[in-house]
Amino acid sequence: MRPLIAGNWKMHGTLDSARELASGVASGVASGADLLVCPPFVHLAPVAGVLGGSSVALGAQDCHAAAKGAHTGDVSAPMLADLGARFVILGHSERRSDHGESDAVVLAKAEAALAAGLTPVVCVGESEAQRVAGEAEAVVAGQLAGSLPEGFAAAGGVVAYEPVWAIGTGRTPTEGDIAAMHARIRAELQARFGEAGGKLRILYGGSVKPGNAKAILALPHVDGALVGGASLVAADFLGIAMAV
Ligand code: PEP
Repeated sequence: MRPLIAGNWKMHGTLDSARELASGVASGVASGADLLVCPPFVHLAPVAGVLGGSSVALGAQDCHAAAKGAHTGDVSAPMLADLGARFVILGHSERRSDHGESDAVVLAKAEAALAAGLTPVVCVGESEAQRVAGEAEAVVAGQLAGSLPEGFAAAGGVVAYEPVWAIGTGRTPTEGDIAAMHARIRAELQARFGEAGGKLRILYGGSVKPGNAKAILALPHVDGALVGGASLVAADFLGIAMAV
């Protein structure tokens, strides 16, 4: 399966820097991976213009569960599709913590994404306390059961395993722990979706950098990466993509 390297730009950048970053990514050397960038909502349209006919896909970082309505400040999945987005990150740990998003909320948003023709990238991951308590795999299995809609596998949905304690900290789980979690996620996907679950991409996210990407991306059932900080520098993001 072709790996996916996805950049989550979070709430960073200006219009100019977003255009420059998109241009740098789009003009990068082709790698063996699919590339995806997820700018803030307000930068989606200009970044779509920069990406133009390049092979770099566009995604958003969230969407509302409703297709339209009285939801001040929110953005719907059809609006994102209309701008040229093909993917949407859902259930990122910062959404779960900043906005109290539960698995049920993430599930509803993922349904909305599928209905709009977007590919959801559903994030799951344990806290440090949960890992220390030996609960990491059970927590992630519960998040998968609660957050993935029925049509997820048929639509080629993406799962991103992002241990909360590894995001933006420079810390990563051991290679053994990443491999064990990805094997567990694969087993959960196959148990739920059958053969289709074996073909879904499972990304690792949490302090992926050019220096550790090769080792992480070589692990079984690691089908790409969701990258935060290092996706804000085109050379670093492309360096990760070249490590595939
Ligand atoms: C993320 O926020 O999805 C992420 C993985 O961030 P970082 O790469 O900075 O840890």
